[in-house]
Amino acid sequence: MNIPRLEPTRPLRVLALAKQIPVFADMQLGPDGRLVRDGLVLHMNDYCRRGVALGLQIARASGGTLSVLTLGPPSADTVCREAIAFGADAGFHVTDPAFAGSDTLATARALAASVEYLGPFDLILAGRNSVDADTGQVPPQLADLLELPFACGVRRLRLSGERLLLLLEHNDEWLNAEVELPVVLSCAERLIDPCKIKDPAIWAGVDGARIRAISAAELGPGPWGAAASPTSVGPIRTLEIDRRGEMLAGGLAEQADRAIAVLDERGALSAAAGAAGLAPGRGLAAELPAAGRGGPAVGVLIEPARERHTRELLGAAASLAATIGGHVVALGPGAGGELGSFGADAVHRIIAGGTGAGAVPGDSHGGLVEEDVATVVGDWARDVQPWGILAPSTAWGREVASRVAARLGAGLTGDAVGLACEAGRLIADKPAFGGYVVAAIACSSAIQMATVRSGVLPLPEPREAADPAVSEIIVTPRRRLRVVSRTRDDDADQLAHADVVIGVGMGVHTTHYERLRADARKIGAALCATRKVTDVNAMPRARQVGITGHTISPRLYIAIGLSGKFNHTVGVRSSGSIVAVNPDRDAPIFDWCDVGFVADWREVFDELIPRLEGALAT
Ligand SMILES: Cc1cc2nc3c(=O)[nH]c(=O)nc-3n(C[C@H](O)[C@H](O)[C@H](O)COP(=O)(O)OP(=O)(O)OC[C@H]3O[C@@H](n4cnc5c(N)ncnc54)[C@H](O)[C@@H]3O)c2cc1C
Repeated sequence: MNIPRLEPTRPLRVLALAKQIPVFADMQLGPDGRLVRDGLVLHMNDYCRRGVALGLQIARASGGTLSVLTLGPPSADTVCREAIAFGADAGFHVTDPAFAGSDTLATARALAASVEYLGPFDLILAGRNSVDADTGQVPPQLADLLELPFACGVRRLRLSGERLLLLLEHNDEWLNAEVELPVVLSCAERLIDPCKIKDPAIWAGVDGARIRAISAAELGPGPWGAAASPTSVGPIRTLEIDRRGEMLAGGLAEQADRAIAVLDERGALSAAAGAAGLAPGRGLAAELPAAGRGGPAVGVLIEPARERHTRELLGAAASLAATIGGHVVALGPGAGGELGSFGADAVHRIIAGGTGAGAVPGDSHGGLVEEDVATVVGDWARDVQPWGILAPSTAWGREVASRVAARLGAGLTGDAVGLACEAGRLIADKPAFGGYVVAAIACSSAIQMATVRSGVLPLPEPREAADPAVSEIIVTPRRRLRVVSRTRDDDADQLAHADVVIGVGMGVHTTHYERLRADARKIGAALCATRKVTDVNAMPRARQVGITGHTISPRLYIAIGLSGKFNHTVGVRSSGSIVAVNPDRDAPIFDWCDVGFVADWREVFDELIPRLEGALAT
């Protein structure tokens, strides 16, 4: 953890947003697939804990104040209490039955109205996302509604007068950026030690007078809640996964033979088998349709240097466009005519003009940040009124899409794992609660939007080059957030697309990584890791899988040297088949697996890898 360098020159009014969420490990779903709320343990979202902790340091260093703002039912006042017990000066609890059924945009609107009512604030700190819904949409939507700059995933911060120097964590990318106050920031996991007061008796002792309840009427006429939400939740299905749970016995060679037999039976050795619970392409064509001409537009936001994800999105958009008799428009910095063979019928390349052009030599984003791209896409959408807009669910895609949705009042489904067109409308499958449930989300707005997870949609073969019309849209960058450098230390798509993944925990010593990598290559597996492993920098942060890392759905997941704590396993729950290797028979990973070896991973791999190599090759 790093210590923020704080050199303020005046007292700052800091506001930290804190959401109350259920404790995952205690969560239960009723027979209707809905969350059982009775007796549910609720607490402050883990990322918001970072915002409160950072806010307190900044408030103290500047001689200013830290207030905490939460929107939620009466029970949500406990997050204000915990933050005040931790050192915050005041709590604002926006609570009213009128807010029931708020989606992310309605939540952002209510928070924006609260900030305007209670403010001004110099700095607004949010969590990167809430770990229950995992959209990451509210912070950028709030920034957009307040007309403020936004920086996502702050991992390191230096405050110098009015200027913030930030290190931002975006998927597999690191950005150094500068911004001036006032600003909205979202906090990454390892920014700072979290605000946490474990003993509820201490929060209970907090003077209730320091928490101010705010009603909907105080914020204005609305509409609020469900009435202000452009998305609606349709049928919900729970992800029931039939795990074999077979603990292997006998000699290791015999165990490895048995493991192969079980995996074969489960289809884990065949490339045709998919993940356990996702239904990504409901109705989407596996092959690219012919080029579309006219009709409604389906927009696709093109993030630079994410080719495979781009191809998946364009393929899905082409399939949706064919269903509605429309066409596909690709928009983004660096977008070009080559996108025609992946499904684009028209391309708008977004280019920085004016004095801000080319600020960082070699920047793949051409000197444009998310806010600039959102301006172009928002104007285009207002003009063209597209049927829908798809974006990657990366940090970039989530911010651009969130800002566009806020400007258009459009429904936005975050991190969809499936898309379909039903009765002419977009249905996006959204996993929630760590993938325990998948909800079909529809939009009531004319323009329908979704960010889509990498590696879940079909990747159609390219079609004959279709020569799309390419035009340039020039935008003058606002340069409120200035990216000074951008580096990648990994390729997040590699993990997202891997059929076979080996999950590595602290039980694998780093001196054995070379051997592990050689074994992984033999079976074409990608590596991912537990948080403890990425905490000690043994693997890049983008390899972390779990509640505060990625969710993956490979055909085969082989867990070695990891205990299988809930916070990790929830991220691999929808894998097709799971093999667990751990010398501790009581390790929780064995409750999640199809076959389990109670042994040292190296001895198991001596037997298993050659067999898998042969079986996966056929
Ligand atoms: C808010 C929060 C968020 C979190 N988010 C995440 C997340 O996103 N992802 C995540 O992974 N964790 C997350 N964690 C941490 C998580 O709870 C666990 O602490 C972590 O996953 C454990 O890592 P591990 O299994 O590598 O280590 P350990 O729990 O230390 O387990 C190591 C295992 O290795 C086994 N082992 C030892 N030697 C061998 C050998 N030779 N062969 C095979 N096995 C061996 C041991 O028996 C042991 O079971 C989070 C925690 C919190 C509080």
